[in-house]
Amino acid sequence: MPESELRGIGVSPGRAAGPVYRLAPPPPLPPAPPVIDIAAERSRARAAVTTVTAELTRRADAAADATAAEVLRAQVLMAADETLLEAVDTAVDGGADAPHAITAALAEHRAAFEAAGGYLAERVSDLDDLRDRLVAACLGLPMPGVPSPGHPFVLVARDLAPADTAGLDPAVVLGLITEEGGPTSHTAILARTLGIPAVVRCAAVMDVADGVRVSLDGSSGTVRTGISDASVQSVNEAQRALLDRRAASSGPGATADGHPVALLANIGSARDLPADVEGVGLFRTELLYLDRTEPPSFEEQVTAYGQVFAALPGRKVVVRTLDAGADKPLPFLRLAGEPNPALGIRGLRVARAMPSVLDTQLSAIAAAAASAEADVWVMAPMVATAAEAAAFAAACREHGLRTAGVMIEVPAAALRAPTVLRDVDFLSIGTNDLSQYTFAADRMCGDLAELLDPWQPALISLIAACAAAGREAGKPVGACGEAAADPDFALVLVGLGISSLSMAARSIPAVREALSAHTYDECVQFAKAALAADTPTTARAAVRP
Ligand code: PEP
Ligand code: MG
Repeated sequence: MPESELRGIGVSPGRAAGPVYRLAPPPPLPPAPPVIDIAAERSRARAAVTTVTAELTRRADAAADATAAEVLRAQVLMAADETLLEAVDTAVDGGADAPHAITAALAEHRAAFEAAGGYLAERVSDLDDLRDRLVAACLGLPMPGVPSPGHPFVLVARDLAPADTAGLDPAVVLGLITEEGGPTSHTAILARTLGIPAVVRCAAVMDVADGVRVSLDGSSGTVRTGISDASVQSVNEAQRALLDRRAASSGPGATADGHPVALLANIGSARDLPADVEGVGLFRTELLYLDRTEPPSFEEQVTAYGQVFAALPGRKVVVRTLDAGADKPLPFLRLAGEPNPALGIRGLRVARAMPSVLDTQLSAIAAAAASAEADVWVMAPMVATAAEAAAFAAACREHGLRTAGVMIEVPAAALRAPTVLRDVDFLSIGTNDLSQYTFAADRMCGDLAELLDPWQPALISLIAACAAAGREAGKPVGACGEAAADPDFALVLVGLGISSLSMAARSIPAVREALSAHTYDECVQFAKAALAADTPTTARAAVRP
């Protein structure tokens, strides 16, 4: 294949190169044949079970991560389960061919798992995956899901579900390229968390055949296809050298002249905690419960939060209460379908309908904090008014939680930042949602990427208003959206008066490097120039001419 260039949007910085393998879609079920050969269909189904269990066992043996290996072994047990095989035989005897018999048998199992509730109900997605694998094996199609060619590769997909991305092993998946997806989608966020360079909205990338060598740049969004082996090596070596240099930098964030800027991590659980971090600026607690059909108990929550607090004695941990709804539905909340979920019951608004969920969570955070030495702060997502902020702060104090704040994600709250701040201790700007709501542009929509650009003057103005309110009130204002991870934009944020920057842990070294190369006064000049700019391009050019 001759070398050529594709363009997408870089969403997780870094460069990577290697052979492409595509995420195969679930196999389509062909029309049911009117007549079948019972013996042949029974043995086709058995052969599919043998193929799939062998493949799952191979992957379990090779899995670097114990949890992933456990999930795969559980799937092997499900596939080989006698009652499942009997149900397949019964369906074949009733006239179904192997793919339809497997689909029917697994649908029965699925219904039984769902009816059982609890742990079993949470395994239904594993059953769906098993069904897709067995049907693909029957039809002689490639296995759906993340491929496992047995060596490191670049994963290409039309789009990725957060669950696909969460299970990726950065040692094997060198880079990610998707044809769809947006810059602030949770898939992009998870790629950054895992430190996997990623490009989204790369048209025609699904046409690149498996095995073709490509390179990608997760900052510029450039993808080169059909490159040589030598180019693959040189890209990966240069990336390794850059990461080694950054990994050697450590210590608290500060400008060149010593103005401190706390560099904090965005995490979804204790597993995301980096070894040496100043603290956590955004603990997205909902990520712990994305696949739950039953509410997490008080005790479970105390354990999960306690694990994070215990790892950070004397350091700040900002816990965000559950941010459910829209792009992060929590099945256990059983929220009714809404025509426009991003504008519906989400974030703190869930507490109006289900106050006990927030109450239990605040009790659990307080209980975990009581036996830990971390400096625990709590904040609410999706706050729109000063009254909501005040009510949330009051609820926190009733639970003995001393430091209560709110996220600024809704323009109304940014515009009234001084009043919102009156009853809370701090603000944290979520630039992902603040962009979405300021520009009426769905954060998942790659076609609107230019509106979601953090360098948009309107977004910078709203951030400036919040920072000014914080200065006036003598209260800290941090930023925890993805924009904080852009080293150039971080300089602007600091110049506007933002006191802490929270980001995926892997982005911290690059931001630390940028800050240490500029004085606080330079940051202030960058911020003034960015605020005065009329377009994102001129705002950017103010920092990097
Ligand atoms: C944000 O909206 O910027 C934010 C940090 O919250 P999340 O990305 O989890 O919605
Ligand atoms: Mg948000």
